[in-house]
Amino acid sequence: MRRISVFGATGSVGASTLDLIRRDRAAYHIVALTGGRNVAALADLAREFRPELAVIADPDLLGELREALDGAGVEVAAGRAAIVESATRPVDWAMSAIVGAAGLEPGLRVLEQGATLALANKETLVAAGPLVMAAAREHGATILPVDSEHSAVFQALRGEEPASIERVIITASGGAFRDWPVERLAQATVADASTHPNWDMGQRITIDSASMFNKALEVIETREFFGIDPGRIEVLVHPESLVHALVGFTDGALMAHVGPPDMRHAIGHALHWPDRRALPVERLDLAAIGSLSFRAADEARWPALRLAREVMAAGGGAGAVFNAAKEQALDGFISGRIGFVDMAGVVEQVLENLHKVGGAVSPLGLEDVLMLDQRARQEAQRLIGASER
Ligand code: NDP
Repeated sequence: MRRISVFGATGSVGASTLDLIRRDRAAYHIVALTGGRNVAALADLAREFRPELAVIADPDLLGELREALDGAGVEVAAGRAAIVESATRPVDWAMSAIVGAAGLEPGLRVLEQGATLALANKETLVAAGPLVMAAAREHGATILPVDSEHSAVFQALRGEEPASIERVIITASGGAFRDWPVERLAQATVADASTHPNWDMGQRITIDSASMFNKALEVIETREFFGIDPGRIEVLVHPESLVHALVGFTDGALMAHVGPPDMRHAIGHALHWPDRRALPVERLDLAAIGSLSFRAADEARWPALRLAREVMAAGGGAGAVFNAAKEQALDGFISGRIGFVDMAGVVEQVLENLHKVGGAVSPLGLEDVLMLDQRARQEAQRLIGASER
C-alpha cells in the first residue's frame, strides 16, 4: 500500500487528487490531509479517507476541527508548524497543493525524506528553485510536475537528450480578459477576473490567469525545473487550452502535448509515474473540435510576462520577492484596495525597491527566502497603502 499525504486537500487540486485516490482507495494509506481554514471540508475528507492526521493551518480553528472529528479516530493539529511537522511523517508520495509561499516548507520536508513530491504549488520553485532542486538531489527525492504545462513538457521530454532541446513553449489561455480592449482593463472587477474561460480552478489562480502572473510564475518554474535558458522559453496564447506545451528540438521537430483541460490528467500522471494508467478524463475528439488557434502573447496587455524575464535575469532571491509581492498585490486587488492593472505596478516597484537585497542573495537558503518573502510583503503593503492615500 502506498503511503501518501495531500497538502492543500481542501482546495481544487487537492479535490482532484483525492478524486483519483477515491477510485482506487485500497491502494493507498493516507498519512496527512491538510487544509487552510475550511474546517468542514477537511473534517469531511478526514472522515472519508481516515488519514493518520488532519491539520488545519489556522491555529484558532483547532477546537473546531477537534470537535468536528470527535470520535473519528483521526489525530488533529493546527498551525503552520503542525503542517510542516506533518510533512516529516514518512510517505512514498505527497501532493503539494497548498496555495502560495506557505507550500514551500512542507514540500521541502517531503523532499528531505527522499520521497516523491508531486508539485502543484508553483510558488515553491519560483521562490526557492535552486534550494528545492538541490534538496531533491541531496536526498535522492523525485519531484514530478503537476502544473499542466510542466507535466506536458515533462511528458514531451521523456527519452529525449537534454542537448537536443532548442526551446520550450508553454501555452496560456489568455484568461478572462484576453479579448478585452487593453484600455478597459483598468475597470476590471474581481468578479470579472474570477471567471476562467476553460479551467475550473481556485479563485487566486484564476485571477492570476487573467493577469498572466500565473504564466509568469510558470515561465520561472520552467527555468528552475528543467534548467532551460530563459531565452529559450516562450509563451504562446492558445485560447482552447488543449495544447498545454510544446518542445522544439534541434532537428526542427515540435512535440506538442494535447489533452483535455482537466487537472486530473497531470495529477494522475504524477500519481502513477513512471507508469501510464487509465484516467477518468475526457478523450478529445479533434475532428469535432475542428481547429486550434494560437497568437503571440502581448506584453503590453500582460506586463507580468516582462517582469518574469527581469526576475530570471536578476537571479538570486528575485523570485522570492516577485512571488511574495505578487501574492500581496493579488490580496490588494481581491480586497478592493488596488485595481487590476495596479497589481503589475506594485510588483514591479517592489522588485525595483528590493533589487539590492534580493539580487545579492546567492546561494539561497530557506532563511533567506523567508526573509525576502517578508520584506517583499511589507514593501508591497506599504506601496498599496500609499496608493490609497
Ligand atoms: P485553492 O485555493 O483551491 O486551494 C488551496 C489550498 O491551500 C486549500 O486547501 C487551502 O485551504 C490551502 N491553504 C490556503 N492558505 C494556506 C496556508 N496559509 N497554509 C496552509 N494551507 C493553506 O488552490 P488550487 O488548488 O487551485 O491551487 C493550489 C496550488 O496549485 C497553487 O499553488 C496553484 O498555483 C497550483 N495549481 C493549481 C491548478 C489548478 O488547476 N487549480 C493548476 C496548476 C497549479 P482552505 O481552502 O481550507 O483554506
